[in-house]
Amino acid sequence: MSEGASDDVNVHNSGKRTEECRRMVDHALTRNPVVKFMVEKLEEAGCPVGERFFSLESCSEEVGGGFRVPDGVIVCSNHLSAQEEVSHVLTHELIHAYDHCRGADLDWTNCEHHACSEVRAASLSGDCHFKQELLRGNTGFRGQHQRCVRRRAELSVGMNDYCKGPGCAKRAVDNVFDRCFADTAPFDRIP
Ligand SMILES: [Zn+2]
Repeated sequence: MSEGASDDVNVHNSGKRTEECRRMVDHALTRNPVVKFMVEKLEEAGCPVGERFFSLESCSEEVGGGFRVPDGVIVCSNHLSAQEEVSHVLTHELIHAYDHCRGADLDWTNCEHHACSEVRAASLSGDCHFKQELLRGNTGFRGQHQRCVRRRAELSVGMNDYCKGPGCAKRAVDNVFDRCFADTAPFDRIP
C-alpha cells in the first residue's frame, strides 16, 4: 500500500473516504483509456457492466480490490488513496471479469483456473510495470516481468480458500503459466 493509505484504520470507513473513492472510480471509468477499453471489450463479449457492477467496501485483507461472482468488482476504499491505484485495481479486476465472461466453464474454486486469470491480470494490468516493481524494491531487469507475474499470481491464488495447501498456489501457477501468459486477450499484446 502507498504511504498515507493506512491512516484510516477505522473499518467503519469515513464517508469522505468512500465518497472520494467513488469519485476516483467514476473518473477511471470515464477517463482512463485502459479501463474504458476493458469495459468496452466486456460489452462486446456479451457482459455489459453498469455502474452497479462496481462496489466500494472496507476490506480486511491487504488487497486493493476483488472480483466476486455475481456481484462484480469490489474496490477497497480503505486501502486506496490515489487515482492511479484505483484505475490500476479496476483494470486488474476487469480482466478477471473478462475471463469470467468468456469462460463458460471457469471455476474459481479450481486453482488452475484461478491461477490462469491471475497470471493474465498480473501481466496485463500493469501490476508488473517497471515503476510498480521499483516501488516494491525489485530492481532486476532480465526476466523481471515474468518473475513478477509469477510472484503476484501465486500471492493472489494463495488467498483462495481452495488453494491454501502447501505449494498449491505455486503448482497451479507453474502448470498454467506458459499458456496463460501467452494469452493477452482482449489486448493484442501486453500493454
Ligand atoms: Zn487478481
